Amino acid sequence: MTTKYIFVTGGVLSGVGKGITAASIGALLKARGYKVNIQKCDPYFNFDAGTLNPAEHGEVFVTKDGAETDLDLGHYERFLDIELTQSSSTMSGRIFRQVIEDERAGKYLGKTVQIIPHVTNAMQEAIAEAGKGFDVHIVEVGGTVGDYESTAFIEAIRQFRHQVGAKNTLSVHVVYLPYLTASAEVKSKPAQNAVRDLREAGIQPDILIARTDHPVPNGVLNKLSLFGDVAREAVIALPTVKTVYSVPVILEDAGVGRIVAEHFGLTKKKPNLKNWHNLELKVLSKNNKTVKIGLVAKYLDHQDTYASVIEAIKAACWAEDKKADIKWIDAESLTTKNVASKLKGLDGIVVPGGFGSRGVEGKIVAATHAFKRNIPYLGLCLGMQVACIAAARLSGLHDANSTEFDPKTTSPVIGLMEEQKTLTVIGGTMRLGNYECALEKKSKAAKLYGKTKIEERHRHRYEFSNDYEDALRSQGLTVVGRNPLTGLAEVVEASAKKYFIASQYHPEFNSRPMRPHPLFLGLIRSI
Ligand code: GLN
Repeated sequence: MTTKYIFVTGGVLSGVGKGITAASIGALLKARGYKVNIQKCDPYFNFDAGTLNPAEHGEVFVTKDGAETDLDLGHYERFLDIELTQSSSTMSGRIFRQVIEDERAGKYLGKTVQIIPHVTNAMQEAIAEAGKGFDVHIVEVGGTVGDYESTAFIEAIRQFRHQVGAKNTLSVHVVYLPYLTASAEVKSKPAQNAVRDLREAGIQPDILIARTDHPVPNGVLNKLSLFGDVAREAVIALPTVKTVYSVPVILEDAGVGRIVAEHFGLTKKKPNLKNWHNLELKVLSKNNKTVKIGLVAKYLDHQDTYASVIEAIKAACWAEDKKADIKWIDAESLTTKNVASKLKGLDGIVVPGGFGSRGVEGKIVAATHAFKRNIPYLGLCLGMQVACIAAARLSGLHDANSTEFDPKTTSPVIGLMEEQKTLTVIGGTMRLGNYECALEKKSKAAKLYGKTKIEERHRHRYEFSNDYEDALRSQGLTVVGRNPLTGLAEVVEASAKKYFIASQYHPEFNSRPMRPHPLFLGLIRSI
């Protein structure tokens, strides 16, 4: 079949769940047996998300082919249980760079280069390219319609719809209905205006998703239908719910899957949403035993900074019928003096990835504490590096460190590889994306994975120096996973402990709500 395209835009406010809506619609189509791809078009002028501050923008999600992307791709992968690629993340900066490179290469044959048609054409090409070979391709445009920056993407979509035909595209507009306490009313005017903005740009929405924190009277939805010229059945209230994993079922029950299928003339059978129902039951179960996991981190104000790590911990808990109680521990405040009291009562400790020296000593203290007190520990990237530093220090190498934090250390347990030492730019210079790892047969890690050959996603610059293997081993910490081509350490574990495993890669990116990652599962099972 020819590829069908769903464009998901937003109005009124950003951050009301456009990404979850897009991903959920994808899940409904996947449940009907269709091959679905999904893409985020971000109006930022950045080239990718690699240089964005995670405290402001949320985590940087990494695809298997090494793209540093917006965290929405994490939602997409978790909801659709697929592995996305570079083509699923399109930031304006990437499009503009390409257009400028083409201009320098003389490809425009002496013409003036303009937003329309050159930039909008490049955007359409990026969308068509990502959709190739799929039954349905979902495109979410970041921000809200009417933003200065998103204008080119919206125009690109309008033209795209014109080119491939209305029957092959569907527009979903996600709006927000504010609640006015003074009159105890849900108001529809901002949403009406948001629909008008989209129509002014030449796009008539086919489905309106009205996000709301309050019950919405029918009259409000009728108004949206009439003034937005959207079929009444396609105006759907999506309330704020306890878990985002309820959204696919809510949208299905509201008829979204059927409306989309009918619009595209898709004929496949009834959707199978049993796994979504099961997941919802597990997530909302009240009977589960609570496990307290300490997340020793630097950024504490923004839930999204460690989105994939948190989702991975939760997923492992759901699979084991447990409930995760995640405590955020401020790494900067941890010292050898207060660590016992600050980490008291925790069933397990996770040290996630990070860059720069802030809070690193606290993370080393946490790893040392977990190691000495036999508290289950899972280290992720920087979490492995600090575990290695902790063990090296315990072996007597008192100033063991990473050259990232102490360039003058006499025991550079973690350092740069020779070929990296001359690099001067920051963007795109890390070890990124999938690399192979061979696990030792007898290791706990291999048992958890159920195999010895794995591939996992990376995002780091520094490496463990194999010169310090003996120092680690003297403390009972061994390298049990290596890159088979380079010999670089990928996994370390202390087999005598209840659970002490750390990886140079980021297992959290491969965890799924219905298919938790083995290393997170191992952590939860050890508790
Ligand atoms: N800062 C460390 C490095 O670059 C760890 C990176 C990370 O945790 N993602 O190697």
